[in-house]
Amino acid sequence: MNTLTGLAELYTEIEMAYDKVATLLDFSCRKCPDNCCDSYFQHHTYIEWAYLWQGLRLLPVDRQTEYRARARAALAAYREALAKEERPQVMCPVNDNGRCGIYQHRLLICRLHGVPASITAPDGRSRQFPGCFRCQELTANLANVTTMDRTRFFTTMVSLEQSLLKGRSLPKIRMTLAEMLLQEPPLTFSPSPSQGEGRDGGVENPQK
Ligand code: SF4
Ligand code: SF4
Repeated sequence: MNTLTGLAELYTEIEMAYDKVATLLDFSCRKCPDNCCDSYFQHHTYIEWAYLWQGLRLLPVDRQTEYRARARAALAAYREALAKEERPQVMCPVNDNGRCGIYQHRLLICRLHGVPASITAPDGRSRQFPGCFRCQELTANLANVTTMDRTRFFTTMVSLEQSLLKGRSLPKIRMTLAEMLLQEPPLTFSPSPSQGEGRDGGVENPQK
């Protein structure tokens, strides 16, 4: 199976798990006063980088150009904030007035952030994530909070990444989406450029 297809399937699985927990908690991003798309997210896998580019190339050229121009501005704003030792708070370059312009190709953290979650490391230690501020408000008085187990998602992601790298040793990455847009993934991972019409992108909910 193509590794990018495998990633698309993993993302679908994550969406289903996320929706299940969100439904049980009666939680949604609708009418949220915040927008997490201005969070300083950094990403760590080549496969997500390649998949992002696959989505980017489905868009009309002028939209791609616009996103890359915004990415340059975002990068400058990140650097300015980091130079002041502040955590950057800059809108994601592919967010169009609250709508994600690459929704089907958004990155892992965009899909996980929100509901409470847990993960168990290979050594058996487990870590809890309380969810976004709004979900924490919602669950504050609950005795038992339903969580999404991220463990299998991460092990599958590691295995897909290894499959993409095919034993090649490449530097570890820690990149913002803006950096990923401004620098194509290593050539061998790049999907073929698409000549097709771009889809409209944007969806009602910017996050999920
Ligand atoms: S995930 Fe983000 S957009 Fe959704 S409710 Fe939480 S803070 Fe708001
Ligand atoms: S959901 Fe879309 S717009 Fe929001 S941070 Fe992720 S990629 Fe950017």
